[in-house]
Amino acid sequence: MLIEPYGGALVDRCTSDKEWTRHLNAAGDREILLKHEDQINVINIVTGSYSPLTGFMTEQEYGQVVADSKLPSGLDWTIPILLPVLTETLDGLTPGASVILSKKQGHPLAVMEVESIFEIDREKHNLSVFGTDSTEHPGVQDCLRKSRVCLGGQLHAHPSVVPDFRYFYPPRELRGKLESTGQKTFTAFSTRNICHVGHEYLHTIALEITDKVGINVITGAQVKGNFLPDVVFDTYEYLIDRYYPVDKVFLNNLRLPPIYAGPKEAFLQAIMLQNSGYTHFIVGRDHAGIGSFYPRYGAQQIFKELDSLSIEILPISEPRYCKVCGKITTENSCRHTGADIAALNGRDVRRFLLEKRYAELKNILREDLQKFLTGLFEEQVADDSELKLKEPRRIFYD
Ligand SMILES: [Zn+2]
Repeated sequence: MLIEPYGGALVDRCTSDKEWTRHLNAAGDREILLKHEDQINVINIVTGSYSPLTGFMTEQEYGQVVADSKLPSGLDWTIPILLPVLTETLDGLTPGASVILSKKQGHPLAVMEVESIFEIDREKHNLSVFGTDSTEHPGVQDCLRKSRVCLGGQLHAHPSVVPDFRYFYPPRELRGKLESTGQKTFTAFSTRNICHVGHEYLHTIALEITDKVGINVITGAQVKGNFLPDVVFDTYEYLIDRYYPVDKVFLNNLRLPPIYAGPKEAFLQAIMLQNSGYTHFIVGRDHAGIGSFYPRYGAQQIFKELDSLSIEILPISEPRYCKVCGKITTENSCRHTGADIAALNGRDVRRFLLEKRYAELKNILREDLQKFLTGLFEEQVADDSELKLKEPRRIFYD
């Protein structure tokens, strides 16, 4: 018996051919072209990843989420799921009408039955979602760039709109896979980065506690300087095939636009992961954080304040490399501090790779993983000639 989806039932907004045609006809030629991140939200809604949401938030839902971190039903919900639209695209649209939401012209992803057209108060929004209205915060910047006008309402879609990305398992599919194992406990680890030894430490703990660990690679951000999803998947496949116990660690592509909302974003991830069937979730020191906007371990704290999720949080302390102990430890497992401790973070991995400072990756990445990774993008030159054997591969978004 798998964990219940959030709110009790997994949402599925995909309808039959006949119903889909009916919804398309009802919308007629009213069409809104979606930005990349809105497309991700559409797919997350229609496949049930955001269960119990059945559409973009209405003014009433939005108001309660920013005021109390709750849906009208009383369930905790922290991040508004909004569809901002330019007023000129509204073109006389009123509540009660339907509109096609498209990837590009003539490529519908969903039909929205518009229930609500409303304006958000950006200052109130930013203070609630990000805890700041500082224009240094990328989430605030993003909000200021977008239209204040939002459309809310239920979505309808067709199964054929669900994309076929590498390792992308919509909640129903992943739940089916987990159920078929006959096992009971599944830990989710979420990441946008390649696996450093600190991450491996977290996976090791989770493997001691639960039956399986799912590595949820968060994709969809397309942020300059971030690893390309295929590179993250390739490096994880390398580890899974060589080091992790057979059949205990799997990959999943978690599609989520960049939000940078720290604790509140961690809570949204937890909702998505529970909907996908996970029973446990590793939440770190600065989960989904940015700069120093959120308190240390704030992302672990929010799960004590909001209690409507069933997924259990594994609040593991931040792993770091201790030079005295010569291994990965946490502040709970060794006494050393200050210069004896080297923090592990994805930014360093990126910088050392770009600057070819490979020696400094020694205590951060497994040596052969580092070689595998650098082998992807370094020029390959045959020993006995100047002939280039392989085109170097791009590993970051640029
Ligand atoms: Zn130590």
